Formats: sequence, structure tokens, C-alpha cells
Amino acid sequence: MDSPRKAAFLDRDGVINVDHGYVSTWEAFEFLPGAERAMQSLHRAGYQLVIISNQSGIGRGFYTEDDLLALNGCLATHMQSEFDTPVTGFYHCPHHPTEAIGPLRTACDCRKPAPGMILQAAQELDLLLTESLLVGDKTSDILAGEAAGVGRLFKVGELSSELEGIENAEWVPALSEVPARLMSRTD
Ligand SMILES: [Mg+2]
Ligand SMILES: [Zn+2]
Repeated sequence: MDSPRKAAFLDRDGVINVDHGYVSTWEAFEFLPGAERAMQSLHRAGYQLVIISNQSGIGRGFYTEDDLLALNGCLATHMQSEFDTPVTGFYHCPHHPTEAIGPLRTACDCRKPAPGMILQAAQELDLLLTESLLVGDKTSDILAGEAAGVGRLFKVGELSSELEGIENAEWVPALSEVPARLMSRTD
């Protein structure tokens, strides 16, 4: 079977897990209610799961890239073993334009709201952006998705008036509600 060419691009903190601020260990990683089931539903609906996350904590020296890779590994293993759900890709931006240390202090093209991580994932994983969706808890997530040309954009958490001009953006209370929203729209 050909792998599906559409993705669910998921921000991590505040979408999949509680945003405690610079979460860098599996022990500190706390799933939001229903997040794992929603990821499973999206996978079963034919979306490849791709996590797209600003991780300036690396640039700030709070944790290392290896710490993040270890956490990513735990998350992927958990989703596969407990929910039979693969996470296809993890993309992160370690930079910050003013607060990072050394070479990671740069105005990069990957830190959201820039679309760099999404475009890289689309190229590497051969994804159709117009068929894909994105879920984020910040306006910068939605703007990155818009700039990349992602078909549907879901803002979770607080409603933002900045979304008003973005035609394909919609608010949902949480990631757990996204699968049902997809069903209702296509009926
Ligand atoms: Mg977030
Ligand atoms: Zn970056």
C-alpha cells in the first residue's frame, strides 16, 4: 500500500501535551486529555503524523538536541506500542533570533511563524500540503501553516482575532475535537 501523502502537522506543547514550558524529558511530558486517541484517529483517517515544534530551549541552553531526540523516541515508541500509531516525522527549530547562544542565535527560516519546517517535511516525506492539516495553539503555528499552503488550519486553546483574515483557519477547543470536526465537514 502506498503511504498516504497527506499529513497532520501537529505542534507539540499545548496541542499534544501540557505546555509546562521547555518540556525536555519524558517524565515531564503530560498528554492533554484525548490527544493520543486523536492522533490515532488521524492516523486511521490516512494522515501521516508530523510534529513541527519550535524548541528554542535548545538554543537557550536549557537542554540539548540529544535530550529532545530521546524524548521524541519515547513519544514515538509510546504511540506505536500503545496506540498502534506511527509518528512519521519530528521537526524542530533550535534557534532564537535574540535569546539563543552562539550560532543558534539567528533569524532562521524554520522558527514558526516561518514555514521552513513544514516545507522541509513536505519535501522529505513527499506530502501534499493542500490535502494536509495543521493543529497549533499559537497564532504563529497557524501563520506558518498558512505560509506553507496547508489546506486546513486548526487553532486550539484560546480564540485569536488574528485568525479572522485566514479563510481556512478554524478554532477547536482541543486536538481531541479535530477528528470529529473532519467528519462533520465532509458529510
Ligand atoms: Mg504550542
Ligand atoms: Zn530555526
